[in-house]
Amino acid sequence: MGLSTRAARAHASVDTVTAFFERMSGLADDPDALDFTFGNPHEMALPGLVDALRSNIEPQTFEWFAYKANEPPAQETVAAGLRDELGLDFEPADIAMTQGAFGAISLAFALVADAGDEVVIPTPGWFCYTPMLHAANLVPVEAPLDPETFDLDIAAVARAITPRTRIVVVNSPSNPTGRVFPKETWDHLAALLDEFSHRHGHRIWILSDEPYRRIRFDGIGFDSPAASYPWTMIDYSYGKVLLAPGQRLGYLALSPLLPRAERDELRESFMSLQLAIGWGFPNALMQYSVPALESVSIDIPELERKRDRLVSEMEAAGYRLTRPDGTFYLWGRAPGGDGAAFCDALSAQGVHFMPGTMFDQPAHFRISLTATMDTIERALPVITEAGTQPPA
Ligand code: PLP
Repeated sequence: MGLSTRAARAHASVDTVTAFFERMSGLADDPDALDFTFGNPHEMALPGLVDALRSNIEPQTFEWFAYKANEPPAQETVAAGLRDELGLDFEPADIAMTQGAFGAISLAFALVADAGDEVVIPTPGWFCYTPMLHAANLVPVEAPLDPETFDLDIAAVARAITPRTRIVVVNSPSNPTGRVFPKETWDHLAALLDEFSHRHGHRIWILSDEPYRRIRFDGIGFDSPAASYPWTMIDYSYGKVLLAPGQRLGYLALSPLLPRAERDELRESFMSLQLAIGWGFPNALMQYSVPALESVSIDIPELERKRDRLVSEMEAAGYRLTRPDGTFYLWGRAPGGDGAAFCDALSAQGVHFMPGTMFDQPAHFRISLTATMDTIERALPVITEAGTQPPA
């Protein structure tokens, strides 16, 4: 037995996901595969991304590719963007530049949690929270979302909190359901966490996982819990809005409402903790590109058209779906109630969905809207045929 206990736990908690990843890894090379599995690109990279990288690749000084930490122009751009988007007074020093949301989440765990602390995570939720918590020697505790609407269930969060709770993770727009939560949800959660923090004699943090923040539909607004609860850290990734998750870039941001002394202490710890978790900074090229990348985005109206096409055809065929407010995912109930069997049956016909088992929801499936419209049109006859017909 070579694996440490935490490595073994991390491995066991994500082996369904890694097995699925390996099983589906050939899809990109199969021209007949109609692939709706992971949120990966299916078209050539955005010209704005390629231009930004190209214009920064040529060294301008001998230090161009020296070690890079939190580079001030990147921090300044992010702070200005956040001030604009969230209406809060972010400063560059509130921002730690990271390798995507993954890196920011690891940093958040290292900043405020001690070994053995509990972290509340939403279910269904992103499948990497649990292995990341195990690898950090922390304990995941699930708080189910409302099973019908997938709203945050404040009573379920309350039941999940114990004297060992250190962080509550929230995710809006949510993977896999696409739900966006309103300010009232955050106000209720803030009141709850204030009460429990006082009762247990230590502060419970919110980690607001916001990689899909800029991918929203129907003109819907966005509220971050950072405006309702000062002890909030935001993690973000450019990998979603640029649809380039292999070019790692993101950040962790502290709520500007945090009391001054705590804000200073955390800011001052960024650099040493990023070093300690394994040089957790983005590569030089990505940091130089932040100012140019701030305004680059995938075509969100096109994503919305893909959502609308799938939702209207699939609902007419009898599917029960959660119409997403954001993200690039569509979440639904498998006809017959067995998500894995349903996805296997579709796979046999060349249409590949992600089974809900990846999110511990065996009755569901997830579709990625990053598939092209052409893929959608080719897949729809198979998808609608597999749905249950609505009553006449
Ligand atoms: N959080 C959620 C909810 C996600 O869906 C993902 C990626 O799928 C991440 C974090 C990690 O994002 P990145 O790979 O861009 O770091």
